[in-house]
Amino acid sequence: MCGIVGYIGKRKAFPIILEGLKRLEYRGYDSAGIALYDDSDIKLSKTKGKVADLEAKAKNEINTDGTIGIGHTRWATHGVPNDVNSHPHYSNSGDLVIIHNGIIENYDSLKKELLKRGYIFKSDTDTEVLINLIEDVKINEKVKLGKAVQIALNQVVGAYAIAVFDKNKPNEIVVAKLGSPLAIGIGDEEFFIASDASPFLEYTKKAIYLEDEEMAVISRKKGVKLRRIKNDAVVDPYIQELKINLEQIEKGGYEHFMLKEIHEQPNAIKDTYRGRLLAKEGIVKMAGVDDNLERFLNANKIIIVACGTSWHAGLVAEYVFENLAKVPVEVEYASEFRYRNPVITDKDVVIAISQSGETADTLAAIKLAKSKNAFVFGVCNVVGSTISRETHAGAYTHAGPEIGVASTKAFTTQITVLTLIALKLAKEKGTISNSEFHLYLQELELIPEKVKKALKSEKHIKTVANTYKNAKNCLYLGRGYNFPVALEGALKLKEISYIHAEGYPAAEMKHGPIALIDEQMPVFVIATKKGHYEKVVSNIQEIKSRSGKIIGIVTEGDEDVKNLADHVIEVPETIEFLTPLLTTIPMQLLSYHIAVMLNKNVDQPRNLAKSVTVE
Ligand code: GLU
Repeated sequence: MCGIVGYIGKRKAFPIILEGLKRLEYRGYDSAGIALYDDSDIKLSKTKGKVADLEAKAKNEINTDGTIGIGHTRWATHGVPNDVNSHPHYSNSGDLVIIHNGIIENYDSLKKELLKRGYIFKSDTDTEVLINLIEDVKINEKVKLGKAVQIALNQVVGAYAIAVFDKNKPNEIVVAKLGSPLAIGIGDEEFFIASDASPFLEYTKKAIYLEDEEMAVISRKKGVKLRRIKNDAVVDPYIQELKINLEQIEKGGYEHFMLKEIHEQPNAIKDTYRGRLLAKEGIVKMAGVDDNLERFLNANKIIIVACGTSWHAGLVAEYVFENLAKVPVEVEYASEFRYRNPVITDKDVVIAISQSGETADTLAAIKLAKSKNAFVFGVCNVVGSTISRETHAGAYTHAGPEIGVASTKAFTTQITVLTLIALKLAKEKGTISNSEFHLYLQELELIPEKVKKALKSEKHIKTVANTYKNAKNCLYLGRGYNFPVALEGALKLKEISYIHAEGYPAAEMKHGPIALIDEQMPVFVIATKKGHYEKVVSNIQEIKSRSGKIIGIVTEGDEDVKNLADHVIEVPETIEFLTPLLTTIPMQLLSYHIAVMLNKNVDQPRNLAKSVTVE
């Protein structure tokens, strides 16, 4: 979600950290900052914007000669991107300083405790809570920094890669990791810390990749001492010899950002429900919804406005909201809605969905809805984006930066957020039983593992892609919850491979598109068990009798479709309304591999922009 860099050694830390941060900008940035040791003190410089802005500012603000320091490019999760919320953060005494990549889920309760003990917070971040917790432990338990970090982290729920140092011990940096990546580069009496190896590749090829729940005290003289955070066991560091280049690192070893982002979905979905879905307690916690619960519960109807892939996520949400929470939902293209003079009242809730939070048409739709006094709720990925500021409340998807123009993890994380809202409302309204609610939460928690399993079919999907890569037209069919997935599958194929594709509700086929079917036409049919399975199987029969080529996306172990189809791609079984989170995976991989086989520019397809900020 962001980039962290640290250095301790004999060279000047500033240029190493700065260059390192530039290399990590691909991980997302909205602000950047640096902390350097300077003659018994730690000096900070931080700013909203790019690393280049930081470079200019820091040179004027602080002494850049120090040989120990840490730096950060932020991708905000808690608090808008501004100078104050940028990392590094001081502890209250100013002795300690921290950089952090990740989310501290229980920051709110920790913060309340610390406030009671007199701590003051300058920023809105979860990170500042953590550094003060560490300071509190250090003072109260009279322990060294490493121990204080360890005790504090045992009270933390969430994900983190952190680096901390103390102005009174300027010969060591303490690092720890859970969920977010952290590598240590080993040089000659010098050490590098970074989210990936790119910042230190030119200095050393030796690296230790911290495992989850490991921490290390890195000292100039004593080197790297690794321990387990939970049980304090000493760990023998495994030093790897790196054989990768810079570009390979940026893309996480994948050939394209799109492929990387497809594979990031298990973690992205987890990050989306992190701290919100408490399956054991049977709670869905979402500040933006909780604080406005009455507005949601009393809504006459929910109007979802969005464009492109986000509109498809909205369509999935329509089915989920109506089925679970029994509230009427309309899904609108923002570009149509804004000029249609729609009927909106102050009893309506408008949900605006946009990955970038900058989509011009969606923004205009929001303004229109606000002018009619509707309550407007935003679902965005980019923290502090215009839409997140213009709406009355909202929920971030926390998917991390999406660089590939064709949206993938934004789609599944939008569905995750919207499903959480629907579940919350359904529970509050009593439209689902307590036991159903619990069951659904548990099942949603299993989705990341099931997405991982769905991703395992990639090799098989590649052979299917190879069979159909030269098709001129393709049809995508689905019903119910999976009708929007058919639309999204067709959109993905169009966007990156430039093959004409249409998505249809499977039963609509006989009202027109069936005329197109012949032996040249691949038809991708989502036919997962439950829902309208038998009816979709009949639709498949109709295609088969017209010699169409059938590629079925089916539930694991399915036999019926297998007997009829030319190919099947299996996804794990889940509750029907969660199937889009799984069936969309083969769709994404199919388009990706077809586009690669056709030599197309996958990450930057022609004529498209990542965020559409014009009408
Ligand atoms: N949760 C932290 C914040 O907002 C860190 C986000 C990041 O990984 O950049 O500031």
